[in-house]
Amino acid sequence: MNDQASSVEDVRKKAGLRSKIQHQLFIDGKFVDAKSGETLTSVNPHDNTAIAEVSMAGRADVDAAVAAAHAAFPAWSHASASDRGRILLRLADLIEANAEELARLESLDTGHPLRDSRALDVPRTALCFRYFGGMADKVEGTTIPVDAGFLNYTSREAIGVVGQVVPWNFPLMFTSWKLGPALAAGNCVVMKPAEITPLSSLRIAELMTEAGIPNGVVNVLPGLGSVAGQYIAEHPHIAKISFTGSTATGRRIVQASAGNLKKVQLELGGKGANIVFEDANLLAAVNGSAWAIFHNQGQACIAGSRLMLHERIADEFLERFIALAKSIRLGNPLDPATEMGPLTSMLHRDRVLGYVATASEQGGSVLSGGKSPADPSLADGFYIEPTIVRARSFKDRVAQEEVFGPFVTVLTFSSDEEALQIANGTEYGLGAGLWTRDLARAHLFARELKSGMVWLNSYKRVHPASPFGGVGQSGYGREMGFEVMREYTQVKSVWVNVDAKIAPWYAR
Ligand code: NAP
Ligand code: MG
Repeated sequence: MNDQASSVEDVRKKAGLRSKIQHQLFIDGKFVDAKSGETLTSVNPHDNTAIAEVSMAGRADVDAAVAAAHAAFPAWSHASASDRGRILLRLADLIEANAEELARLESLDTGHPLRDSRALDVPRTALCFRYFGGMADKVEGTTIPVDAGFLNYTSREAIGVVGQVVPWNFPLMFTSWKLGPALAAGNCVVMKPAEITPLSSLRIAELMTEAGIPNGVVNVLPGLGSVAGQYIAEHPHIAKISFTGSTATGRRIVQASAGNLKKVQLELGGKGANIVFEDANLLAAVNGSAWAIFHNQGQACIAGSRLMLHERIADEFLERFIALAKSIRLGNPLDPATEMGPLTSMLHRDRVLGYVATASEQGGSVLSGGKSPADPSLADGFYIEPTIVRARSFKDRVAQEEVFGPFVTVLTFSSDEEALQIANGTEYGLGAGLWTRDLARAHLFARELKSGMVWLNSYKRVHPASPFGGVGQSGYGREMGFEVMREYTQVKSVWVNVDAKIAPWYAR
């Protein structure tokens, strides 16, 4: 056994994993090295140690994956929809059968507490594949009343080879959000996971093979965004790209897609307004607001990162909220008692800490946290304490820019009009929520918030049946539900002359 193999084996055993950690590219149904032989180190964010050297896809590997996907497309897109669905349903069962393994692998690679991976990431991944397995044979066309004597019908056809670029915050779950609908619709896929979190997507590729997916239908290429990701976005033989990540990269994807006019779907950043009115059930709002920002270390595009409090309840709310934040147990993600893990990379941890300084520079105050924890057992990891910052104005940078960490910006308001102005006062428009007992106010805000999703007396709920996506700089297109099937299909309109009486246009 070479050095790399033996150290990966040690990591595997220590993390309680039974199966091998896959670390090669998945192309045409096989795990292979990158043609260049280059690799990237996947790191455990708990202690900054190497997990595995993962093959790094270059342009030649993307070309090979696109060719395999094209070869697989005719048979896959013409297979009966229920056969495609059955493979996704089998995959959902396999995910459940391997739940503990997947949860441990995800926690090892990303830093998600095992408690979260077990209760959320893995079950949601299975749920998503099962939902789209059931969807496969329910994508219907229509018949349309047109001119007399004509039958006009539509069918929804697969687009072809689609590119998918996945971020690092929920790598396992986002793999299912992207693959489920694309495959149900009959497309073939070339997917690039984030460079820092490729392991669970590779494991899903392996389970897909077990579920019976034909070779070439799914290809998974860990690699750099600037190389493999950029080339997927540019590739002349990729017909559509689905991207989740930052708004800046989203813009680059749109530019790169122009060459062959790819269909583009973008799920970008957010700066979620979480509004607590004076009549809210405070206990529920405190707990829900902590979930909204601190779950997954705040690394969620739909995080409730702007906590907006009515001034009448602000002090009481903050007293309870700060106490709750201080009580959250930070620790090794693989410890089942841990409630908050490290951030997923060192670079990102430093970026989030940078925002603590930014807040102070602009006259804000740190109410809690704002630094790495003192616990020496966490000193090598990318940890940050749950951080609560009060901003001076809703125009401050920490109230406008996506921090993407366990970092919440507190703002206060004194009227419904002011609350709406602050809530709608960013360039983003992904998720927003509010806590109130006033039904009319709740629905009025649901209507007026510039946001793709609104939660009333809850926050950050997601389900594969419910459309997910944003407006403004949060992107366009929708994931999930029937809406996403429109993203992964194109409509064909077919005209049939049954018995139309058409007078000759050129009567000779
Ligand atoms: P990012 O650069 O947008 O990364 C997301 C994905 O895009 C990764 O797979 C990345 O590859 C890839 N990528 C990067 N440049 C690309 C390019 N030119 N063409 C095609 N793909 C490309 O995000 P990040 O730098 O990791 O994070 C920065 C910020 O983005 C975060 O702090 C957060 O504010 C936001 N973010 C939002 C979400 C979300 O769920 N909406 C998710 C992640 C990040 P690499 O892994 O090689 O970079
Ligand atoms: Mg990692």
